[in-house]
Amino acid sequence: MLTLSGLASLSIGSFAIMRFISGDFDIALLDSLISAAMFAFFLFIFITRKINIANILMVLFILMAVLMSIIVKGDTQSHWIHPAVIATYYLLPQKKAVIFSSIALIIISIVLYPKIDIVAFSVVVTTALLTLIFSYVIFGNYAKKQKELTRLTSIDALTLAKNRRALDKKLAKVILRQSRKEYNMCLILLDVDHFKKVNDQYGHAVGDKILVNTCELISKNIRVLDTLYRYGGEEFVIMPLDMELSKAQVIAEKLRQIIENHSFTQGVEVTISLGVAQYKKNETSENWISRADSALYKAKNSGRNKVCLGS
Ligand code: GH3
Ligand code: MG
Ligand code: MG
Repeated sequence: MLTLSGLASLSIGSFAIMRFISGDFDIALLDSLISAAMFAFFLFIFITRKINIANILMVLFILMAVLMSIIVKGDTQSHWIHPAVIATYYLLPQKKAVIFSSIALIIISIVLYPKIDIVAFSVVVTTALLTLIFSYVIFGNYAKKQKELTRLTSIDALTLAKNRRALDKKLAKVILRQSRKEYNMCLILLDVDHFKKVNDQYGHAVGDKILVNTCELISKNIRVLDTLYRYGGEEFVIMPLDMELSKAQVIAEKLRQIIENHSFTQGVEVTISLGVAQYKKNETSENWISRADSALYKAKNSGRNKVCLGS
């Protein structure tokens, strides 16, 4: 957006200068206004970073500018419909882009119809419609791929739990939210006990399957929003929000029992150790995790297959 508004201000500004030189004062004035408005957008985004509002304002402005230049200068300005439609799709989500660009096209058609002959009018409308349709398809595909990429970068390929990157993002988000409005949130760190032995005895493939099944079992037994994250190797994190320590302890204990009582592939039995820590005001995510890790360490040192609470 910064680049777009900056470049638009510069390029339309140079058009304005050319128009002034050639004595085309009405369109030169219009170009100057557009260039100044683009510069204002540039400053607005640079200072406030309110991208969504800026995008909508920018689209409205671009479409109005095309309409005004057609009203002032006539059909020679109709070429601007194409970049304006593409910019609309670039700046707005698909549904909003369809609505904005279609309405703009209808209004422009109504304005243009009495100004030119029917053949020229059909060419303008047809090519504008094609730009609209192509933009819809291309930007739609792009948005779908973008969504899928975002999903893929946030999940662990083996267990399909959320990955460490997603955990770091979530931690930053919930800590920021907590700084605005205080509420209870807990972190459960769990680790499969003696997992190296499982791998050594049954092979890595069986180990993988057990990790996958462990995640399935845990995901099935926590609230959807609590989300399971793979912290690394055979270590996982669950982050129950709006939950105090005693309730998180109950959940941890329930999960411990479920894993203990489950018979995995080839009849393998595993246990998990869990450390639970409630967030303390103003602490960093590293500190929070470290307190859960100390609790997990305590669970491991007191015989494993246990739940311990962080201090
Ligand atoms: P502890 O009870 O102290 O946690 O013992 P442990 O054996 O579970 O811990 P250790 O850290 O010694 O070993 C972890 C093992 O987990 C070793 C590593 O090969 C295995 N592991 C980590 N990630 C994967 C994975 O994706 N698949 C499989 N099969 N094994 C994994
Ligand atoms: Mg382990
Ligand atoms: Mg471990």
